[in-house]
Amino acid sequence: MTLHHPVRVSNRDGFTSPAMVFRDSSDKPVTVSSTLAKDQDEHEEKGEKILLCKKCNAGIAKEIDRISRAGKHLHTFFNPAGVVYEIGCFRQASGCYAGGPLSKEFSWFADYSWQISFCASCSEHLGWFFSSSEDTFFGLIVNRLKEY
Ligand SMILES: [Zn+2]
Repeated sequence: MTLHHPVRVSNRDGFTSPAMVFRDSSDKPVTVSSTLAKDQDEHEEKGEKILLCKKCNAGIAKEIDRISRAGKHLHTFFNPAGVVYEIGCFRQASGCYAGGPLSKEFSWFADYSWQISFCASCSEHLGWFFSSSEDTFFGLIVNRLKEY
């Protein structure tokens, strides 16, 4: 999936793509189909949509934990290898674990260090855990998640 050519990314227009996983927080709650996991009713009653790992369907993060960092929820970044990632910021992601060394190299958010974050169930790389002296959050790759 590595992109070998430079890709022009617009932080604004890029987010209007219909392929986006996340929608504006003003969206009405979605109707949950009956084929989903058994604890859905509980979440639905609380108005808590859950974002799932696309690979294994484990619950990763809650919609209500979406936050803005550096002025917005969604960010598009390149890594040093030129791979484009579209990530959403979450104050917590209980289905993720952060691993590996804490790094400040190429950090996408000034003054934050990062660790790679994985799905706690299937170990799929889902994003990064960012931490500073005052704050922590998860940046999750939106196209590796799906909504309930
Ligand atoms: Zn998973």
